[in-house]
Amino acid sequence: MSIVQTYGNIIKKNCDSNPTTSRNLINLGLHLERLKVAHLSHSKNLPSFTYLNAMALGMVEKGMKNPQMTCWNNLFAPVEIMESFGINCLSMEVLSSFFSGFTIEDLLIDASDDEGLATTLCSFHRTFIGANNLNILIPPRASVTTSNVCDGNINTFRYVSKKKDMPLFLVDVPHRYSEESVKYVEDQLQELIVFLEDTYKIRYNEEKLQQILQRENESHQLYEKYLHLVGTKSMPSTLTLQMFTLFASHLSIGSEESLQFYRLLLSDVEKAPLYTGKKILWVHVLPFYDESLKKIFNHSSDFQIQAIEMNSDSNAPLDVSHPLNSVARKLVANVYNKGYEEKAALCARLAQQTKADGVIHFAHWGCKQTSGGVQILKKRLQEDNLPVLLLDGDAVDRRNEGKGQMKTRVEAFCELLAEGDRR
Ligand code: SF4
Repeated sequence: MSIVQTYGNIIKKNCDSNPTTSRNLINLGLHLERLKVAHLSHSKNLPSFTYLNAMALGMVEKGMKNPQMTCWNNLFAPVEIMESFGINCLSMEVLSSFFSGFTIEDLLIDASDDEGLATTLCSFHRTFIGANNLNILIPPRASVTTSNVCDGNINTFRYVSKKKDMPLFLVDVPHRYSEESVKYVEDQLQELIVFLEDTYKIRYNEEKLQQILQRENESHQLYEKYLHLVGTKSMPSTLTLQMFTLFASHLSIGSEESLQFYRLLLSDVEKAPLYTGKKILWVHVLPFYDESLKKIFNHSSDFQIQAIEMNSDSNAPLDVSHPLNSVARKLVANVYNKGYEEKAALCARLAQQTKADGVIHFAHWGCKQTSGGVQILKKRLQEDNLPVLLLDGDAVDRRNEGKGQMKTRVEAFCELLAEGDRR
């Protein structure tokens, strides 16, 4: 049994009878891990990924330890507005992933099942609900979530907020892109500002929001440059680090820390040696805990994941002079808020840009958003003669790992890519 599993078992033992001890152990684990990655040089990770690792751990630690200045949200929430208030954003998806990292997700999921929730509900949601049912999280002052992308969000956040007596703000995002839709969301963002002012007792500062959007624009420009270069460069990483890129592109986009990550990423790719192995475009979340997949992709010189499509879901330039309108426009224009053909087109563009040799689409357990249109995606990518692997699995719950099925399928896919060269 690994040290992480042993530590996870101690957390689990206390969850029922002493949730405070479990919470303290989680905070301690986060703290020690952050110190380790920030102060011990890890020769295998590039400087950008070392920075990202410490940044992600630091964000979760800060959010867990300071609930008075934290807000729970979903990955697609308008974090720029909370950031302008100095509020830490901690997403439901991130919390569940970290609990899985501590190997305690099974206990939390079972604790959500006890409430009679459908087992077909996405395991990100069930883990988050279970952690709340077992009281191992201190609720923050408020939650903010959106209706777009994920159909489970509204119900999960309503349920948890009611149970914890926590103020909740829901942003309703229409699916049809129009000026009317943008205005409708912009009006809600105005209300969100009043809600945050009342809840956190802080005054809104538009200038701060403009600075955040300025940094967000810069970050997108740097990432575009990275995408243009990475197709020929060696950028080894890990499944976990690829998941952590979502901290930069979503949860802290517009922050100085996120911008610094993109600066380092571009610098790394500019200095990187030429790469002759196989390049993968990954679509959707990654089962970062899976040992067999780690062996294939982590710091590999043969198979590298150069990009994940979620980092490019909404990267159009933001008009800094109309900050609220820009954030509203971004929410409505998100690629997942449109027809699946748009997502397929984005993946095709990214695959071309990064010179991908193959695409792996991960259909996460219970996620209708990812499974519903996979055939459209496959058809679009095959028009470009790109090999596509449609991989079913669970990015949180190890029990749905499929007893080696993922390993077999990914190994066969990688063999197919390598075989192409030999032919
Ligand atoms: S994986 Fe799908 S269902 Fe689960 S949180 Fe993400 S978008 Fe929602």
